[in-house]
Amino acid sequence: MEGVVSVGEGDALVSQGGGVVGWSQECLLSSRENHREDTCLSLLGGEVGGSRLHVIAGPCAVESREQIVEIAQAVKEAGATGLRGGAYKPRTSPYCFQGHHEEALKWLAEARDRTGLAIVTEVMEPGLVPLVSAYADVLQLGSRNMQNFALLREVGKSKKPVLFKRGMSNTVKEFMLAAEYILAEGNPNVMLCERGIRTFTEETRNTFDINAIPVLKHRSHLPVIADPSHGTGKWEYVEAAARAAVAAGADGLLIEVHNDPTRAMSDGRQSLTVERFASLMEQLRRLAPALGREL
Ligand code: PEP
Ligand code: MN
Repeated sequence: MEGVVSVGEGDALVSQGGGVVGWSQECLLSSRENHREDTCLSLLGGEVGGSRLHVIAGPCAVESREQIVEIAQAVKEAGATGLRGGAYKPRTSPYCFQGHHEEALKWLAEARDRTGLAIVTEVMEPGLVPLVSAYADVLQLGSRNMQNFALLREVGKSKKPVLFKRGMSNTVKEFMLAAEYILAEGNPNVMLCERGIRTFTEETRNTFDINAIPVLKHRSHLPVIADPSHGTGKWEYVEAAARAAVAAGADGLLIEVHNDPTRAMSDGRQSLTVERFASLMEQLRRLAPALGREL
């Protein structure tokens, strides 16, 4: 892009020629200005980014074969199209449960065989992209890795669909610029996920940035997924935030669900029971038509 300068920290608003630089000149592949139509990705057994809402549900971490298979069957029955579950967990403390790694990937694959659900699971290191891709249908890139550019490039090269989570302290522009690293490697299969940001609030784990949903839909053509589980951090607020996200225009939801949340090895506090998840799906089924969508 000749004549465009200072694409980096903050907003690059002025080009060398003195003209205003828009999002289209920074976010070359992700911006709506350069791609007017909504992008629909063939994923999760359908189209993500079209009129149908998709719900990816499951535990924070894959804890055992029995746990993931039981939860998979329950969320499938309730209407989920994707199964989430971490095999490699990005924990704040190195002393916390880090995941069951390849063994957990095998259990996820078994859960997919039994239910037909698409598997969404996180990859944290460039060197593990081939292994995780061999089992997963969608690679999750976590909030803590939003600007791990080596990882983004590797996932871009893999062409595997990506659930890309916003960094907890990053702007929407930084988020879209980071998505460019994946897109620029030739991987167009990116879903942008709002998962809450750091603020001064104490009552919730994060502040679920509902604004980011219409902002992302305005600025980008890519599908937007909302994660009210990490966005709130407390199960009792997840349903309200999920409804709000759908009303705000999200194309899908990521919801943590556990068969025994009080004993979960991670994020039990924000995990819905399978019964509450089924009730949320019922609410969404009634809400969707009012918004011109279906579940
Ligand atoms: C998760 O999805 O369990 C997770 C670790 O999310 P985030 O990267 O948004 O914290
Ligand atoms: Mn989690």
